[in-house]
Amino acid sequence: MKSHGYAAHDAASALVPYSFERREPGARDVVVEIAYCGICHSDIHQVRNEWGGSIYPMVPGHEIVGRVAAVGAAVAKFKVGDLAGVGVMVDSCRECANCKADLENYCVKNFVGTYNAKGYDGAITYGGYANNIVCDERYVHTLSAKFGDKLAGVAPLLCAGITTYSPLRHWKVGPGKKVGVVGLGGLGHMGLKFAHAFGAHVVQFTTSESKIADAKRLGADEVVLSKDAAAMAGHAASFDFILDCVSAPHDLNAYLQLLRLDGTLCLVGLSERPLPVEPFSLTSYRVALAGSNIGGMAETQEMLDYCAEHGIVSDIEPVSIERLGEAYRRVLKGDVKYRFVIDMATLKG
Ligand code: NAP
Ligand code: ZN
Ligand code: ZN
Repeated sequence: MKSHGYAAHDAASALVPYSFERREPGARDVVVEIAYCGICHSDIHQVRNEWGGSIYPMVPGHEIVGRVAAVGAAVAKFKVGDLAGVGVMVDSCRECANCKADLENYCVKNFVGTYNAKGYDGAITYGGYANNIVCDERYVHTLSAKFGDKLAGVAPLLCAGITTYSPLRHWKVGPGKKVGVVGLGGLGHMGLKFAHAFGAHVVQFTTSESKIADAKRLGADEVVLSKDAAAMAGHAASFDFILDCVSAPHDLNAYLQLLRLDGTLCLVGLSERPLPVEPFSLTSYRVALAGSNIGGMAETQEMLDYCAEHGIVSDIEPVSIERLGEAYRRVLKGDVKYRFVIDMATLKG
């Protein structure tokens, strides 16, 4: 079916209007008319080919919300007019142990990304900087009416939300735990909201003095400027868990040294360059360095329902689609509070 949106044609040029074809909807497919799409830093990494292997033309976007415009004959979960959300995955093998355990995000045959990926049929996928998307209902989320008029703030939950919710749940963050969040961007501000909502004592680390007041408003019990060596030293060997949401190279050892005995530093940020680890940073207190990749479909639905129940959405700045270039430049400067969301009403044609 016909779609139009914005695409990158190489790693250096601006995104431009682009018309393309999606597959004709099948029996299990839903067509979502996209209302909002968040701008994730992963979009920028991939547009600029910072992780390698980018496929052009690329229509980015994996924080998608909208309304169902059509459903295939076998669709059970949706009817036309329903709110719906699509995140980072549009397919997985459905047969491996991880898929069967509701961990499609760790599918051993690699899940199919919403964009910049090849489906199992070889077709290239195109994401949410567009008017619509076709997706198997198994990979589409329902959205509670409780979100009301906050739909734009729901879009970032589909990636930034689940990517922080999942590790905080996995490592059982809650009352009595001292938890750090590193980097107050799109992911970081959701990590901060969740860690606070789960009842932990939360310390936000930031390089930006201008974000200190916001961090407290978003739920931080303490805020540390990471360039303040004395403030960092004051937290040595004290954290149960630290969630690292930084998008660029930085010193992991500085945070590993803040973990208490058996603490864990979990990376969700995906720097394009390796992050050197000093062995002593791990051995001194038997700490673990871990990573986490989005979340499975069931847990993403659980997170969305939790957010609807607890009134949690992302803090967003709406942006019209022709201002993508400016938005990207500001994300790269750490100058977004705290997620740009494209208002698809601004997409012409
Ligand atoms: P973002 O909004 O740009 O936030 C990144 C934050 O990191 C910035 O706001 C800044 O926070 C801090 N930062 C940036 N450059 C830094 C530097 N050189 N040194 C120290 N701190 C720096 O990005 P995002 O969308 O949240 O994404 C964050 C990372 O997670 C990206 O690499 C993205 O690709 C990755 N990601 C991973 C997954 C996953 O499943 N694992 C999912 C989505 C995204 P302060 O101003 O507070 O310092
Ligand atoms: Zn993302
Ligand atoms: Zn699988």
